[in-house]
Amino acid sequence: MERDLARILIPRDEIQRRVGELATEIAETYGEEDAHGLVIVPVLAGSIIFVADLIRCLPFKMNIGLMTISRYRGKTTEGGDTKVVQDLDVDIRNRHVLVVDDILDTGKTLRTVGEQLRKRQPASLRICTLLRKPAKAPKDLVADFVGFDIEDAFVVGYGLDYNDQYRNWPDIGVLKAECYQ
Ligand code: 5GP
Ligand code: MG
Repeated sequence: MERDLARILIPRDEIQRRVGELATEIAETYGEEDAHGLVIVPVLAGSIIFVADLIRCLPFKMNIGLMTISRYRGKTTEGGDTKVVQDLDVDIRNRHVLVVDDILDTGKTLRTVGEQLRKRQPASLRICTLLRKPAKAPKDLVADFVGFDIEDAFVVGYGLDYNDQYRNWPDIGVLKAECYQ
């Protein structure tokens, strides 16, 4: 797996440090009262590793509601529609909701998730994304918590995949060109 990476963009220790900081920011933002009954909505499957690390740094009770969105197929992140593959089955009405995703690229995925969830009238809706590509992210889609702003390269590891592989690589890296089929 390691030999398929052209370079490491964010090493594992740096990810862990930043995840801890994000958890502190999140805990401070909600405060004790709002954190009570918070619903975390990880967008599957890219956020699995991130959300597992993040929530273990959060010192309060929470519910977790899973949502699966499929967006892109293959190496390009352009094109293709977002599709809700598995919808949330937690009642979020009047509850504080934090959506957790792996990467904010064009914003199409998080826009779809936001539209779906807002219809259910949560008390508040915030977004936490581990990565953001500022080159493409639309100005009107604001992520409340962002781990790292990165260059516009296709990255894998720490939950992010290429053709459903490389999610288990602990660092975030750029794939070698020859690994794209
Ligand atoms: P958006 O809808 O914001 O354009 O794209 C977000 C989704 O596309 C992410 O949740 C992720 O699944 C996928 N994606 C976007 N950029 C990358 C990337 O660089 N690497 C990987 N592995 N997936 C990406
Ligand atoms: Mg995703």
